[in-house]
Amino acid sequence: MSSLRRDIAGLGPEGAEADRRPGLYVHVPFCLRKCDYCAFYSLPEPGWGLISAYLQGLAGEAELCCQDAPDGVSSLFIGGGTPTVLSEEGLSKLLGILTRSFRPDENCEQSVEANPGTLNREKLRILRQAGINRLSLGAQSFSDLLLKSLGRIHRAGEIREGVRLARDAGFSNLNLDLMFGLPGQSLGLWQETLAEAVALAPEHLSLYALTPEEGTPLARRYSDGTACAPSAPLPPRSLPPLPDDEQQAEMYDWAVEYLAARGYLRYEVSNFALPDRECRHNSAVWRGRDYLGLGPGAVSTLRGVRRRNLESVRDYAEHLAQGRNPWEPTGVEVLSAQELRSERLILGLRLREGVCLSAFRRDFGVDLRDIYGEVLARYLRMGVLILGEDSLRLKPAYTFVANAVLKDFV
Ligand code: SF4
Repeated sequence: MSSLRRDIAGLGPEGAEADRRPGLYVHVPFCLRKCDYCAFYSLPEPGWGLISAYLQGLAGEAELCCQDAPDGVSSLFIGGGTPTVLSEEGLSKLLGILTRSFRPDENCEQSVEANPGTLNREKLRILRQAGINRLSLGAQSFSDLLLKSLGRIHRAGEIREGVRLARDAGFSNLNLDLMFGLPGQSLGLWQETLAEAVALAPEHLSLYALTPEEGTPLARRYSDGTACAPSAPLPPRSLPPLPDDEQQAEMYDWAVEYLAARGYLRYEVSNFALPDRECRHNSAVWRGRDYLGLGPGAVSTLRGVRRRNLESVRDYAEHLAQGRNPWEPTGVEVLSAQELRSERLILGLRLREGVCLSAFRRDFGVDLRDIYGEVLARYLRMGVLILGEDSLRLKPAYTFVANAVLKDFV
């Protein structure tokens, strides 16, 4: 076992729980081109001028924010957007900024999101050299037809190549993001994608159901009739129908069993990992821990205060150049005790381990059962929730419909 592997394996969720330092999320708001279903804040085809303004802004923000993490950060997650759309020079600058201000230590989980169409040996070398020890690849599907219908820039061959290059570069902790419920996707096609993903032996898998978000090209194509009724012949540029809720649930349930049989345990509604390979950064957020968010559009939650950064890269960079905080004018919110408690419950119930009752009492000074007595009793009677000795959990059979249950706790 390499020392890196030993470090990661030795610090499971309990180890991370004892660490009260905030996690650090860094948003890179650029992509090579926009995928048809994407509602995240990211700008396609950025020029060097914009990237340079972003990096200058980020350096200023890191300098301002490192005082919020005087003992360093518990984890680092660089996401987007597509961080690996940056050139080798851009990536080196970004990593240099973060290392200088936050000095993540060798036990720190440090993840970077990557699009398989943007990787090469040199970028992977730069990431590893800077201490990045976890790579999350946006694979989405192993069907070239489906990848094309989503407007993804990569094809299945590039996912396989990306995994090979990442392993060669020394990454021993890989995640693949996959999507189901895609236009015209059958259960069989989904099964093929999962089998291909597992064959690459990633340590972690994230599975998301496609939801056409309002305002995206995909949603427009489904609302303006260019998508087909199930039995209609396909006109040019049309999309086949989306699997309905029942078909999506079937895909999800099949995946849970298939992955469990191969050693991947579902530890959160959408996340599956081999033993000790849960994403520590996200797990800490789901357990209600503080996090700092840097970059345009990023959100931080520290000591009960949530703040949201300006989205425009230019405005963000300009504010920081003038030594001002890059926050949205109405982007700073003091969360009430009730909001914090609801969030803890809602995020915690997404986890297989559930909400820790004693941690809830420690952090809020009240017993969870005293606050949610009536609604809690109803779901316990229905068998949807399970009350353990020190936890409240969602019964596994209800995981896929978690959102419907959780809204009752808001
Ligand atoms: S690569 Fe990711 S962030 Fe970029 S457009 Fe596609 S889905 Fe959105």
